[in-house]
Amino acid sequence: MTWRRLTWVLATLASALLVGRSAWQLSGSRTRQLFGELVTRVPVGDSLIALTFDDGPTAYTDSVLAQLADLDAPATFFMVGRAMEQHAEVVARVVEAGHELGNHSYSHRRLVLKRPRTIRSEVERTDALIRAAGQEGEIFFRPPYGKRLVGLPLYLTRRDRPTVLWDLEPDTYHRDAAGMVRYVLDRARPGSIILLHVEIASREQGRLALGEIVTGLRARGYRFVTLSRLIAASEELGPRRTSLDPSLRGNRELPDPYVCGSTAYPPETGGCRERPEWPGARYEAQEAGPRSPPRPSRPAAAVIPLPRTRRSSDAS
Ligand SMILES: [Zn+2]
Repeated sequence: MTWRRLTWVLATLASALLVGRSAWQLSGSRTRQLFGELVTRVPVGDSLIALTFDDGPTAYTDSVLAQLADLDAPATFFMVGRAMEQHAEVVARVVEAGHELGNHSYSHRRLVLKRPRTIRSEVERTDALIRAAGQEGEIFFRPPYGKRLVGLPLYLTRRDRPTVLWDLEPDTYHRDAAGMVRYVLDRARPGSIILLHVEIASREQGRLALGEIVTGLRARGYRFVTLSRLIAASEELGPRRTSLDPSLRGNRELPDPYVCGSTAYPPETGGCRERPEWPGARYEAQEAGPRSPPRPSRPAAAVIPLPRTRRSSDAS
């Protein structure tokens, strides 16, 4: 092999690795996807918040139901179809208690680089089980491990369904209940979607944290609703927005048009003027009806003068 050919092969390999790495990172992104609607947190005009539990039902689901009954808090259970078949009576109790069911695939495998018929089967088998359990209305889908790239967003978009993730994931970052509670109370915002895995046997600390998360957020004025109610409340402010909307894209990095600190921006009063942490991001008070949301003026582009580097050609 000539040096030239070897260089070409190495360059091709390096490019393929780079593309693969970027695709893998994108497949697990919490804030971006290639196309279609991505729900991580929704704009709401009230301090509403949603609890969501993944990976059930399990033998622990009943104890979670008892906790929620004591707390009088509704939740959304993203269930795995295969587990629903094994615990059909538990599923019935979740529905009977007034909670919502979401679709978390049939077998909980990563739906990345899978054939269209596999994706379709994973989603639709679980849809059918959720319908059989008696749930009406839209069924929201959350990908296993949050992973998706092309096929799954394409499938969902063609059926006008969003990809639902979350913006708060306490048990990803903390192993102890106190840490999880602190994490949520520090970061919760109106429209937040909290992900917990309290139905998994090893997540005892999550189950311990649940009560304090609910009471702590309530003390701060939050009201718990199911995911469909949260999204419906958002739609009252205007048409559902997608991850392709620049004002929502990467909502961890862009100023939030509806929230100042931890206080919701009531559309009719227009309380929020400026977020100090985003100087230049100004929001104007305006009258707003139920279907005409307050639109933020675009943040002025911040021009930060860079120190002029001295190049050899500048030398006099
Ligand atoms: Zn899962």
